Amino acid sequence: MLEPTYQADVVVVGAGVAGLSAARRLTSAGVTTLVLEAAHEVGGRMTTEKVDGFRLDRIGQLLSTAYPELRAGTGLEGPVLRPFAPGVLLHSDGRHHRAGVQPGARGARSARGALHAVRALASAPRPGGGPRRPVAVPGRQVSAPRSRTGAPLGTAVDQARLGAAFSKLAGTPVERLLARPETTAAEALVARGLPARTIDGFLRPLLSALLCDPELTTSSRCADLALRAFARGRLCLPEGGAEALPRQLARALPPGTVHTGVRVTSVSTTSVTTVEHGVFRCGAVLVATGARAAAELLPGLRVPDFHPVTVVHHTTDEAPATGASLLLDADRGGPVAHTAVVSRVDPSRAPAGRTLVSSTVLGPPGPDVDTAVRMHLGRLYGVPTERWETLGVRHTAEAVPAMRPPHDLRRAVRLLAGLYVCGDHRDSGSVQGALHSGRRAAAAILADLGVDRSLHSAEPVPTARAA
Ligand SMILES: Cc1cc2nc3c(=O)[nH]c(=O)nc-3n(C[C@H](O)[C@H](O)[C@H](O)COP(=O)(O)OP(=O)(O)OC[C@H]3O[C@@H](n4cnc5c(N)ncnc54)[C@H](O)[C@@H]3O)c2cc1C
Repeated sequence: MLEPTYQADVVVVGAGVAGLSAARRLTSAGVTTLVLEAAHEVGGRMTTEKVDGFRLDRIGQLLSTAYPELRAGTGLEGPVLRPFAPGVLLHSDGRHHRAGVQPGARGARSARGALHAVRALASAPRPGGGPRRPVAVPGRQVSAPRSRTGAPLGTAVDQARLGAAFSKLAGTPVERLLARPETTAAEALVARGLPARTIDGFLRPLLSALLCDPELTTSSRCADLALRAFARGRLCLPEGGAEALPRQLARALPPGTVHTGVRVTSVSTTSVTTVEHGVFRCGAVLVATGARAAAELLPGLRVPDFHPVTVVHHTTDEAPATGASLLLDADRGGPVAHTAVVSRVDPSRAPAGRTLVSSTVLGPPGPDVDTAVRMHLGRLYGVPTERWETLGVRHTAEAVPAMRPPHDLRRAVRLLAGLYVCGDHRDSGSVQGALHSGRRAAAAILADLGVDRSLHSAEPVPTARAA
């Protein structure tokens, strides 16, 4: 039981990744911090449900190893990132086509790496159901197989143009991207002069998945950042489920910092009031909730529109033959935007011998989403799905804040001396954006409190590492 008059330098409201990363930076600088979380566990939107030995994420989490806030560092070991391998498969006309950026000389994706051509694969399962041999071998350049005409990436010339565009994007500094004229992602795709087939067959489904935005109304600058991360890194999932990241952040805090099951009802520059434990007095308050809850605590704060997302989890005895790839529907022939045999990407998400297929539906899910998804998955994977067992259907109406142009990627985190706000709605609607907003808020608080971080032996914030 907490003391109602508990004194702390800073109270953080909300234990999602934004609040936890801010708390980590504050405590590392010697600032006493309390994190109050309304739910009974940390993680916010990044929680993972356990059902019969399966680990089911509420989010259709696509992280990138190129997210600056997730880049590997020294010190504490962070969660392991499991890459989709060999990368992205496009489903078009009943066939699978492989697409991805060629690995560079050091095994990481090179900024110069060109989009390697795709190879059409029959979507019928391989005998034995084993994964296909990867086209690209990490650590050395490979000769790209040719795509047949009519494949979603177009002709060899179309693919070369796309590869050059990705190469240029990967090497462009972020500041230059943010200085470009801003339109919607959909308008910018057309304006870049790429072939319509490449746009519709590959870039639209890819960007929709990365931004959780099927209509591509997102700011072109946010789209450029997402494509840049795609070109520079690898799409991946956190090992053990999305919760691995917030749990790792929480574990790195001093004992007694995080209190779950405590709902904050009002905030000021010197106190917070809770349902369960009354008033907590402090030197500063950081509101690290989602956008709507933040606006309830901080009247006048803007509430953005949101992109709704539904994630459907199935299990089957026999894994479809797409290996550990992320499967996108280039034809947009059903509700599923992207799907993967996630137990192939991260075996810890399913009991031994079982398969977990997780599929993401963007936008309003429509009636009987499970049946519609199951039928679409049958076409996408080229296998009967009637006997697949549904493990969960998770709909989040306010999943990702919309980032329509003009979008401010560095929305103020300091409202008043003593009152701060962070979360994905202050930055970009992503894990990267949430973590980065937490970093900015912690820096603002430390500056206002006059804390010289160099006086403290700040441990590095835990970072993720690629498997
Ligand atoms: C379905 C879905 C799919 C997504 N897909 C992706 C993706 O592919 N890639 C990607 O990068 N991002 C994705 N995201 C977005 C990503 O999950 C979020 O941007 C990120 O988790 C936001 O973190 P946060 O800390 O800002 O907020 P949250 O995770 O929402 O944390 C806020 C916390 O505040 C707590 N809280 C609220 N009110 C109070 C109160 N009054 N008192 C105390 N505590 C309170 C909440 O319980 C919560 O724990 C997805 C999200 C969803 C839902």
